[in-house]
Amino acid sequence: MTMAIIDGKSFALDLREKLAGAVSAVKSRHNVQPALAVVLVGEDPASQVYVRNKGVATEKAGMRSIEHKLPADTGEGAVVALVRELNADENVDGILVQLPLPDHISSERVINEIHPDKDVDGLTETNAGRLLLGKEGLVPCTPQGSVMLVKSIRDSLSGLHAVVVGRSILVGKPLAMLLLAENCTVTIAHSRTKDLAGVCREADILCAAVGRARMIKGDWIKSGATVIDVGINRIEEDGKMRLVGDVDFDEAAHRAGAITPVPGGVGPMTIACLLRNTVIAAARRRRLGPVDI
Ligand code: NDP
Repeated sequence: MTMAIIDGKSFALDLREKLAGAVSAVKSRHNVQPALAVVLVGEDPASQVYVRNKGVATEKAGMRSIEHKLPADTGEGAVVALVRELNADENVDGILVQLPLPDHISSERVINEIHPDKDVDGLTETNAGRLLLGKEGLVPCTPQGSVMLVKSIRDSLSGLHAVVVGRSILVGKPLAMLLLAENCTVTIAHSRTKDLAGVCREADILCAAVGRARMIKGDWIKSGATVIDVGINRIEEDGKMRLVGDVDFDEAAHRAGAITPVPGGVGPMTIACLLRNTVIAAARRRRLGPVDI
């Protein structure tokens, strides 16, 4: 069997081009430039890179990028006050608070201060509830991107058995809800699941969001299954640092029908979906009518 590699990098690039087109149309028709505000507290190097990349991508899509960089010892009250200020700012369409926050600040408290209509990460309790209830809201970016990739190679997901390994608020749970909304039969597996290999073998669509390098072996994969590898693990191999997924890619190549690579699979979709959420948030809040993206 020939395995297809699902090229998330090129899918994400296409999506970003379409978004740039939608932004340009919004600008010319409504004289509105959607804006994304990112809040970074502290100097975590990985977070600084993520924030910089998000800013560049936002501007490339024709939107306005606003960065608020606060020192690591900023108090929770000051971060909450900034989020409230951004909530009230008519010119801000999306607000993202870069996680993790320093230990003395409650992420839950700060995230839930974001107005749900500007919550482009989809992490507030309101948006999580909307997703569970099947109501219109803003959906977390990585799960949204994962489902887009599955749909890029399968016409209909209806009736397929999807197994999601991982039950985090950020990835596993929302991904399971999105697959349910596509009429999949969904199993959520986690660290206490018995016979994980057997559960995975039942999957027509197998999604791994665990954070353990190459944990999912080739013989855990049903022949012809679609495999979405969300995991990003940095490992040292042959004296070099490498990025690998939660799925053993080489072994999976003998079983899967299609798989997302790491890097170049789900990863690039996350930023693309963040930009998409910002455009959607702007269109809804400013009542610009539907945007075709
Ligand atoms: P979390 O650590 O929050 O969740 C991991 C999940 O995996 C938990 O539900 C945990 O189960 C489960 N798990 C851990 N060990 C096992 C095991 N041995 N068997 C079965 N399940 C297990 O991670 P995230 O959801 O935030 O992220 C998951 C992965 O996705 C990471 O590698 C992360 O880097 C990556 N990621 C990638 C993104 C992208 O843009 N591509 C974005 C976000 C994350 P339990 O609940 O029982 O503890």
